[in-house]
Amino acid sequence: MTCVRTIAVLGATGSIGASALDVIARHPDRLRTSVLSAGTQVDALVALCVSHRPAHAVIADESRFAALRDAGLNTQAHAGEAALEALVSGDACDTVVAAIVGAAGLRSTLAAARASKRLLLANKESLVLAGELLMAAANGANAEIIPIDSEHNAIFQCLRSRQTQGDVRRIVLTASGGPFRGRSRDSLASVTREQAIAHPKWSMGPKISVDSATLMNKGLELIEAHHLFGIPGEKLDVLVHPQSLVHSLVEFVDGSTLAQLGLPDMRTSLAVGLGWPQRIESGVAGLDLLAQGRLDFEAPDTEAFPCLRLAWQALEAGGTAPAVLNAANEVAVSAFLQGRIGFLAIPALVEETLARLPAAPAESLEALLATDAQARRLTDHAVSQLAKSQATLPA
Ligand code: NAD
Ligand code: MG
Repeated sequence: MTCVRTIAVLGATGSIGASALDVIARHPDRLRTSVLSAGTQVDALVALCVSHRPAHAVIADESRFAALRDAGLNTQAHAGEAALEALVSGDACDTVVAAIVGAAGLRSTLAAARASKRLLLANKESLVLAGELLMAAANGANAEIIPIDSEHNAIFQCLRSRQTQGDVRRIVLTASGGPFRGRSRDSLASVTREQAIAHPKWSMGPKISVDSATLMNKGLELIEAHHLFGIPGEKLDVLVHPQSLVHSLVEFVDGSTLAQLGLPDMRTSLAVGLGWPQRIESGVAGLDLLAQGRLDFEAPDTEAFPCLRLAWQALEAGGTAPAVLNAANEVAVSAFLQGRIGFLAIPALVEETLARLPAAPAESLEALLATDAQARRLTDHAVSQLAKSQATLPA
């Protein structure tokens, strides 16, 4: 008899949240949603509570608590980050799907690791911001981390055939190249929000879609892979693969390369995380290579997409540099999504903030959070200056 997994889905109203709930609903005999959380979208959260009947629901935005509490649900209502941390740490769940976007997900992700939960980690920003601390917390508490990012989930699967760390020669992350693959840097100056979030292969939330368009997503994933798999930067590589069918590759010292392939649908990674070590149905069809026809590969263009280079430099610099990179990027992407700055300002702002806050040792969570806040302030200020100067330009 398999015991029932009780699952907290953090960021339930988002893209990963929807995919996780879809897989969970396919396995009522073994998977149960026990906690749902959302940022501000209380109506969407209430609707999810009606269909998935969790014991608890948490809205991060405390001003919307009454709407959740008074919705007539058979679910206990909570609000705020502390309530979420307490639920994630307690008996309400044994598995946590960490799918909040951005550094906002760090505290709940850390809480899940410290409480020895099985952690299905989609929130890559928490690893970029505090990778060493998060991995140490998970190792110290014997928490099992199953990466949900498709590349890292692929690597997780391929690494099952490894005995020791020394068996691995190289890990290659594949990248779709995003909607602007093949474009020159100059031609990107005038791209719109709508063009940037229209990803050719994956359907995702707006922030990661912009990150895919700048290639910052792949940069964040390099740092993520470094922490998850204990692999130094020089053993990591990036290969652009526009079909998004090969999700990543691991090369071993004997010359073998293992890859994981599948259709670009996050439910596969989530099913791996929810069922592991068993394989469970995800709702995703198998891969018909004959119908797909071909698999192409090319080198990434770091001239047109400097964010990848900046992330590589931050990984090498270590300490607080990845935290600065991540914070500056979150602020710049948010300003771009609001129409306040252009696309090319994203790498420019990240580079400027990295130059103004040189890497320092990252000793504690407090130090990292202070760096994160400082980098946000600096980038925010630079955004305002830029937006002001653009507003005064002649039409
Ligand atoms: P999304 O924007 O669709 O959803 C984000 C979720 O986080 C929403 O439920 C939102 O309510 C919640 N949220 C936002 N701010 C919050 C806050 N301050 N406090 C609490 N909750 C908050 O994003 P997504 O595409 O589902 O991505 C989620 C995470 O997964 C990101 O870290 C992303 O990089 C990662 N990821 C996503 C995909 C994908 O296919 N979407 C793939 C790989 C990794
Ligand atoms: Mg990915």
